[in-house]
Amino acid sequence: MFICVNCSKNSNLFSIWDYGKIEDMKNESSLLIKGAVLKGASSDVRIRDGLFSEIAPSLSPLPDENVIDAHGMAITPAFYNLHGHAAMTLMRGYADDLELFTWLNEHVWPFEAKLKAEDIYNGTRLAILEMIKSGTVHLEDMYWFTYEAARAAKEMGIRARIGLLALSTNGDADKLNRECLDRIDEFRGIVKISIAPHAVYTVNESRLLQCLHASEEYGLDLHIHASETEKEVADCQKEHGMSPVAWLDKLGILKETTILAHCIHVSDEDLEIIAKRKSWAVHVPFSNMKLASGAFPYKRVREFGVKACLGTDGCCSSNDLSMFGAMRGAAYLAKLFHKDPTIAPAEEVYAMATRQGALAAGVDGGVIEVGKAADCLLINTDLPCLVPNHNLISNLVYSASSECVDTVICNGKILMRGRVVPGEEEIIAKARESVKRLA
Ligand SMILES: [Zn+2]
Repeated sequence: MFICVNCSKNSNLFSIWDYGKIEDMKNESSLLIKGAVLKGASSDVRIRDGLFSEIAPSLSPLPDENVIDAHGMAITPAFYNLHGHAAMTLMRGYADDLELFTWLNEHVWPFEAKLKAEDIYNGTRLAILEMIKSGTVHLEDMYWFTYEAARAAKEMGIRARIGLLALSTNGDADKLNRECLDRIDEFRGIVKISIAPHAVYTVNESRLLQCLHASEEYGLDLHIHASETEKEVADCQKEHGMSPVAWLDKLGILKETTILAHCIHVSDEDLEIIAKRKSWAVHVPFSNMKLASGAFPYKRVREFGVKACLGTDGCCSSNDLSMFGAMRGAAYLAKLFHKDPTIAPAEEVYAMATRQGALAAGVDGGVIEVGKAADCLLINTDLPCLVPNHNLISNLVYSASSECVDTVICNGKILMRGRVVPGEEEIIAKARESVKRLA
């Protein structure tokens, strides 16, 4: 969750994008992973043009092909984080354990009022670095200075859908958004733009309809906070005579690709609507617990057949961006909330972070299969937290940490190898520079 009052700084929008080589590749389109453990068996996995092209017990390298020796490691799908505010990394640990409006009025908003475009760029790069180091290959973002966030994502090679944020009165942010829309063709690759009206309590009817029409005109997906707090639902009932979900549905916002972050205070009728529209409900467990917003109704979400995936939210309300944490939080919270240890088993929660997350992100990936998007991790199964390995998925959900991720591959490109992300020292130094000025 976040709310911001600042949106009027000028952005250095059109600096030249530097695609920065990840490593010195012989042939960037072809990669062979040798000897990785896949579903219990040693396998060779070939990646060509961003897809898994061959999987077999043994494959011979092609001329000029890059080869990774993965003996002793497991190959697994990468993670997809479906809700966040990336540059909020700059506020990690800045103001914790406070009542919501004290937190916003006295800490978050004054900090955000000082943010400049380069801070968003620096904070987003820090977020992406943390995400890569914890095995995540997709960022679903909603924050200010969209172009800077998109530039950071593009440079670092991660998948992203960067939300053009809308409030009832956006001020100069509209200009920034317009400039992004005018250059929309730059965002048709793995870094995309979405339309992100903040929530029903910050975006009025005419603005929501503008967002809807822009999404249709430009062919962009929608991303919005929905039914996060009891107050949001009560206020919407008072103003519109219906719940936030019903209101969004009435306006036509609920499409198959729409991302609904939180979905905590939802009635059976709301869940029926979301299931019928096939929109995505994003479970954000740590943010919901830390802000005491409530618990995602895991059991009812499944009973109604709602499509669900996972997210972390921004670092203000969920201080790290690890999907290991999101999986564990989702499983534990559902068990406690429903007083039933059989709810939210590891396999289900893992699927929300991988296959379900990929589909929500618009990617046919999240599984290691021929023809699917080549987003994967090499996992070091020798770390103490993964020994013994009775069940790898149980270990990944209940005991793993980011440290077990050795290699991250996104769209067939290596983003991290041996836990090293190129340029990480500079990314951290620049983020510290921003914080020094802001805090
Ligand atoms: Zn949020």
